[in-house]
Amino acid sequence: MARFGGGVHPAGCKQYSREKEIGRLPDPKEVWVPLSQHIGAPAVPAVQAGERVLRGQLIGRAAEGLSANVFSPVAGTVKGIVTHITFAGKKAEHVLIENDFSDEHTALAPLAERTPESVLARIAEAGIVGMGGAGFPTAVKLNVRGRVDTLLINGAECEPYITCDDRLMREYAAEVTAGAELCRLACGAQRVIIGVEKNKPEAIAALTPFCKGNIALQKLRTRYPQGAEKQFIRSCTGRTVGEGELPADAGVVVINAHTAYAVWAACEKGEPCYERVMTVSGGAVERPANLWVKNGTPLREIADHCGAHEECGRIVSGGPMMGDAVFSLKICAKKTTSALLFLSKEEAETNKSSVCIGCGKCVQACPMGLSPTFIEEALLAKNYAEAKRYGAPACIGCGCCSYVCPAKRYLAQGVKLAKKIISERGI
Ligand code: SF4
Ligand code: SF4
Repeated sequence: MARFGGGVHPAGCKQYSREKEIGRLPDPKEVWVPLSQHIGAPAVPAVQAGERVLRGQLIGRAAEGLSANVFSPVAGTVKGIVTHITFAGKKAEHVLIENDFSDEHTALAPLAERTPESVLARIAEAGIVGMGGAGFPTAVKLNVRGRVDTLLINGAECEPYITCDDRLMREYAAEVTAGAELCRLACGAQRVIIGVEKNKPEAIAALTPFCKGNIALQKLRTRYPQGAEKQFIRSCTGRTVGEGELPADAGVVVINAHTAYAVWAACEKGEPCYERVMTVSGGAVERPANLWVKNGTPLREIADHCGAHEECGRIVSGGPMMGDAVFSLKICAKKTTSALLFLSKEEAETNKSSVCIGCGKCVQACPMGLSPTFIEEALLAKNYAEAKRYGAPACIGCGCCSYVCPAKRYLAQGVKLAKKIISERGI
């Protein structure tokens, strides 16, 4: 098996939730459904205040260009198209719906035929986006017929604490593999490889009976960031995606395991994308869980259900390595919210940073072969051309450099900022 260079081995911390069967968060009284839950333009409201909607009804139509449809996760009455706070700390349009708890439901029409075109169209119609966190519209990603021979299903889930994909693969192995086969048909690949880290033996055992014919299972070493796209491709196929290249340039396309499940649900059950499995975990949570959570659910509802303490060390959306700090529990869950972590003060580890001691650990750990310490130095000197020469644009934001730094330098944040400035100023 090919290996990627660098990387780290942080404590998995998956023990809090890995044995928790997927449950369901009770529906909230109100949902604030973001019209932008994806990369690209926000969806355009398809409903107005006072209108009654059913669960599964279209409430936001994909805008021109790159965008995605948005659906109501509950039955109820639209109270308005309102601005509400987002994970990025900005205000954006949301559809506010009052739940009437009738749970009246509508589904997409049955898929009459299984052709690459009809499956791609269904994926677009159902508003499916990359649920591993990227949020890229899946129909656009899979529209690579003739350019790829291999579809990869990413079940690595290498971030500490997160167990939603693990549980999904354990409890819905048939659905995930059937979804993978539908994605293979859509993108025209000849084969599927499902990559799972070896620290998920139960998921591997559950998937194995379904991995035959076109579908193979690849056990991956447990090393962060195994699930990062370029590293995942390298581990599963031995192929390298160069800087500025797309996976399709290496003949592959990568879809997250939860996304494969969503494709199955859209094609087999006519269910559009309006809920997902989310891990709620961390040392400041009394009842860690893996839960189906409706898009638009305020994070406070999730916190209260799981006995999470708001006054903890840090609240994070996603994993502790690549996730974002959450500053308000008024923010609402979306298609890409894989985890909500309430880290205790010990887990959050807020040591002050000190001067670089030149140990080189950040260079060794960087899976992209960059020199984070030199990039940070160039950033502080406002020498962005130098930061570019050290490779800042290739940073994947994995956080390995910050993780290993004994001086607790904010390296990943620094490199991310340098990358942003280089891009914005066209350096
Ligand atoms: S520089 Fe970027 S890619 Fe390299 S370890 Fe740091 S965050 Fe990861
Ligand atoms: S790991 Fe930290 S202390 Fe070591 S070289 Fe990199 S920035 Fe300096």
